[in-house]
Amino acid sequence: MRIRTLAAGLLVGALALTACGKEGTPSGAGNTGNAASTPSYTVASNVDVAGSATFAKIKNKGGLTIGVKDDQPGLGLKDPTTGKYAGFDIEIAKMVAAGLGFDESKITYKVVDSSAREAAIANGDVDYYVGTYTITDKRKAQVSFAGPYFMAGQDLLVRKDDNSITGKDTLKGKKVCSVTGSTPIQRVRDQQLTEPGNIVEFQKYSQCVDKLATKEVDAVTTDDAILKGFAAQDPDTLKVVGKPFSQEPYGIGLNKDDSALRNKIDDLLQASLDDGTWQKIYDSTLGKSGSTATKPTIQRY
Ligand code: GLU
Repeated sequence: MRIRTLAAGLLVGALALTACGKEGTPSGAGNTGNAASTPSYTVASNVDVAGSATFAKIKNKGGLTIGVKDDQPGLGLKDPTTGKYAGFDIEIAKMVAAGLGFDESKITYKVVDSSAREAAIANGDVDYYVGTYTITDKRKAQVSFAGPYFMAGQDLLVRKDDNSITGKDTLKGKKVCSVTGSTPIQRVRDQQLTEPGNIVEFQKYSQCVDKLATKEVDAVTTDDAILKGFAAQDPDTLKVVGKPFSQEPYGIGLNKDDSALRNKIDDLLQASLDDGTWQKIYDSTLGKSGSTATKPTIQRY
């Protein structure tokens, strides 16, 4: 636990330094070709999203509230010292905000864990949500999704010296930890990958990872992108099994009835895929571990 926290601090420190380094860069100047630095985003002017109630609201208040995760390294992680957020999801959130006409300084991040997402979006507690949020038909009954902006897959995180867990069909009799309200925990139940009494449930993946280190659980299951971030923080103790067994297309969650905003965000995501910004975001966050990603195809509906 201590080592993991220290490693997290170092990782975030490095990201924070990178961010400081670019602060004087004029907006729109892009990066210097250094794969490690996050892009700068040109803040659009005179934006209007006709027919969007959410956009009218954020325009009126002069800023926006974005729902995120705070404990997922490489995706959405809050530095406890500086209070700054970093990761792939955070960059996607900032890129979209800039496209809507809002500079980073106008963003308020609100931490919403997996089980509370639909309610937070439906209640208007967040204007949109960017946090490893899989697009599913069930969720579409309550919220809508722009995207997908990333394709992940469910995988397993285990202790490095454990060779008994080699895939989803080797979990019987093992304590498996995941998060309330997530697609991975639902899949463990639906496919009966372990016995009901062996399923351990928390609000945050970092809580599961802590229990893996103390041997109170044997595996943590969620998206590979999330698990790789935890393994990278503690490579001497943890490993990802590396056999994804689902498709988890990540969407930006927003109000179910706001198709105008959904179309606008789809346009912004498409532009970022076309002009290289998406790739720069990936390379400067998740891609730092050396893994490559396939670009997603936006699914408009
Ligand atoms: N992508 C999965 C989901 O949306 C797991 C990650 C998460 O809980 O955020 O349920």
